[in-house]
Amino acid sequence: MTRYIAMVALIVAGLVMIAATPATENDFALVGATVIDGTGAKPIKNGVILIRDGRIAAVGASGSVVVPAGIRTVDSAGKYVIPGLMDANVHLFLDAEPENVLKYEGHYEDLIIEAAQIALKNGVTTVFDTWGPRAALVNARNQINSGAAVGSRIYLAGNIIGFTGPLSSDFFPDAQKVFSENVVNRIDKYWEQGVGGELLWMTPDEVRAKVRAYIENGNLDFIKYGSSGHVNEQFIAFSLETQRAIVEEAHRAGITAQAHSTSVESLKMEIEAGVDIMQHCDVTGPEPIPAATLKVIIDRKLPCSAMVVTNKQLDWTKSHNFRPGYSDESKTRDLNDRNLIKMGATLLLTTDAGLFGPDSASSPLLGPYLKDVPDLPTRLQDADYLWLQAVSERGLSPMDALQAATRNIAVAYGKAKEIGTLEPGKRADLVVLNADPLEDPRNYRNIQLVVKDGIAIDRDKLPIKRYLSE
Ligand SMILES: [Zn+2]
Repeated sequence: MTRYIAMVALIVAGLVMIAATPATENDFALVGATVIDGTGAKPIKNGVILIRDGRIAAVGASGSVVVPAGIRTVDSAGKYVIPGLMDANVHLFLDAEPENVLKYEGHYEDLIIEAAQIALKNGVTTVFDTWGPRAALVNARNQINSGAAVGSRIYLAGNIIGFTGPLSSDFFPDAQKVFSENVVNRIDKYWEQGVGGELLWMTPDEVRAKVRAYIENGNLDFIKYGSSGHVNEQFIAFSLETQRAIVEEAHRAGITAQAHSTSVESLKMEIEAGVDIMQHCDVTGPEPIPAATLKVIIDRKLPCSAMVVTNKQLDWTKSHNFRPGYSDESKTRDLNDRNLIKMGATLLLTTDAGLFGPDSASSPLLGPYLKDVPDLPTRLQDADYLWLQAVSERGLSPMDALQAATRNIAVAYGKAKEIGTLEPGKRADLVVLNADPLEDPRNYRNIQLVVKDGIAIDRDKLPIKRYLSE
């Protein structure tokens, strides 16, 4: 009982302290906007969001939130406030062609920060990087988190466990005919980090040890492994027993695990292995997700990162079979998307997006994927807007779409205590829009202001340095 009283006294003292905390110049309140808080609740008309010390101190209808004296107010009447957008799957250094990996060797983090700034400029306050050069990603993430650099908040996985690097047979087999073995090995190592293709030969226990070491030394936020092969997408990469060992190691370390899968069986295996997120779950080659697997995804509310594309993109894929099977696979993916949406799957906005340099459209490696492609879904500058447009065209409700781009991602990655919704205590990551995004998904592009960690972002200045973007 005494302890109880002491506790209450402490809480009361704490409240008094918050109320009495003097306003700093960074504290402010957005007043008068329609607030769509991301919890799924009805929008709050004439709302107030009080931001103090980088976090949301209060949110509610005008009259229910008291703005303390001395705090700057920003008139936001006629605007719409949403949580900062997120992307569950980007590659901040995606254009990892031989030219770029050699030209920028030693400062990949600069390219990563450039990409993180372009994401932030477009209202994406948090990104999850699911494949890239680990050390450079860690460096970029830490620079942004410490305030030394501006950019979207990065969570990273480093390598896709079991994949080899950008100059390897998994990505660019011809590189080995042009570059010396030393160069290929040196570059690939930035990505592989001790968990490359050699793991596919190993026993579950050996893989477990490698993954454990990778997590312990890697400064990672989550892990991703290959359930499918990368070049031969119909091939299974790791056995079920090994997949279970990988997932267990992630959970043992308190982080989430996800898998890259491209077939119905590898999708089923990762689910059985217990992954937290199915990355591009809708990509299953020419074979649609079977009813039994769909049922498990729905019943267990498994977070499904789906690569939904716009009608315009989809139409183009019908007539541009630029590699064998592409048109059929695209048709199947759309069928999967429609089934997942119809059945009410827990969707995450996911794009695989990154920056492409000025030479990439004419490059033999990436050119065919990029040249004259309408509504290119992997272009970081507008990937998230296109995704939101695409799910709207597939019949996902506007509120579900917003949650797929915010709250669902935070929950799936175990970050919902910090980000994902506009609720007291969370980081003040938000976007102020000039028009209602629930009315028309194109309004996500109509940004007035982006705030991250309570700081208004000077969007016109981003990216501060251009390497790949134009
Ligand atoms: Zn993948």
